[in-house]
Amino acid sequence: MRYIRPLSIEDAVGQLAGAAGTAAILAGGSDLLVRMKGGFVEPDLIVDIKSIASLSEIRETADGFSIGAAVPCAVLGENTALKKAWPGVVEAAKLIGSKQVQGRCTITGNLCNASPAADSVPALVAAGARAVVAGPSGKRTIPVEAVPTGPGKTSLAKGEIIEAILLDKRTPRSGDAYLRFIPRTEMDIAVVSAGVNLTIDEHGVITAARVALGAAAPTVLLVEEAAEALIGRKLDEAALERLAKVCAGACRPIDDKRGTIDFRRKVAGVLAKRAATTAYARAGGK
Ligand SMILES: Cc1cc2nc3c(=O)[nH]c(=O)nc-3n(C[C@H](O)[C@H](O)[C@H](O)COP(=O)(O)OP(=O)(O)OC[C@H]3O[C@@H](n4cnc5c(N)ncnc54)[C@H](O)[C@@H]3O)c2cc1C
Repeated sequence: MRYIRPLSIEDAVGQLAGAAGTAAILAGGSDLLVRMKGGFVEPDLIVDIKSIASLSEIRETADGFSIGAAVPCAVLGENTALKKAWPGVVEAAKLIGSKQVQGRCTITGNLCNASPAADSVPALVAAGARAVVAGPSGKRTIPVEAVPTGPGKTSLAKGEIIEAILLDKRTPRSGDAYLRFIPRTEMDIAVVSAGVNLTIDEHGVITAARVALGAAAPTVLLVEEAAEALIGRKLDEAALERLAKVCAGACRPIDDKRGTIDFRRKVAGVLAKRAATTAYARAGGK
């Protein structure tokens, strides 16, 4: 096994593209190292991206935020502007593991590990986040929901690295929220989860919405019918009930010892309602 710490994204891409055997990108390592230790993967080349300076920055631009792929989740919570603009994304990142895990792990690693239960992903999907992908043939920007294609699988080609996650500048009167259900209070993987992002007008009527569910299908679900159930209405009881019904119906969860299909469907609806209520209040809705 060869371990390298390139100083530029170009070098990292070149090394990955030219690798003869299996290659893996190492960000925080909180998934990769666990999988290596468990004997599930044995990469011939490990490309540690933490020495690429530009990947360790959160930049606030005219268009929003660019979160470098090596920024630990703990750092997201220290960024006042990001927390104010995207509290749902930050609260999702701050649910991952423990303080120690958050000191290392990244939202990009969370996305690329492609677990259906990844905590930051429903929040990012609801936020309409995009991923900047650098590869041998240049750069492309794709919606985050286009990255995971199934449990443990991504759409990234050989040599490609996600360089940053982009979040738009917050539009006025908008808010987001993320909630998960776990049987314990922390250090557990979501049994089911929901991320909601809403914009309202001056009368409290919802004008835009994105609703995403985690651990409810092989990949995080962006539930368009859930957005349709909200748009054009205030967040009253009827709208919340419709939202819950649509979310429960959209789920295609597994049945396991942590939750039955029926349980996951019901909780998905409950979490979507609660996340929508918080997002609406954060948008200034009453
Ligand atoms: C004790 C513990 C508790 C945990 N609790 C949670 C939890 O509550 N919720 C949760 O969602 N997860 C949890 N996890 C899983 C893990 O911490 C998260 O998925 C984390 O966000 C992964 O980020 P990382 O930077 O450590 O990824 P890494 O382990 O470095 O990488 C993960 C995968 O993504 C790939 N990758 C990383 N960066 C890039 C990139 N820039 N471009 C392309 N591919 C890339 C890697 O090659 C690897 O396949 C836990 C893990 C542990 C060990």
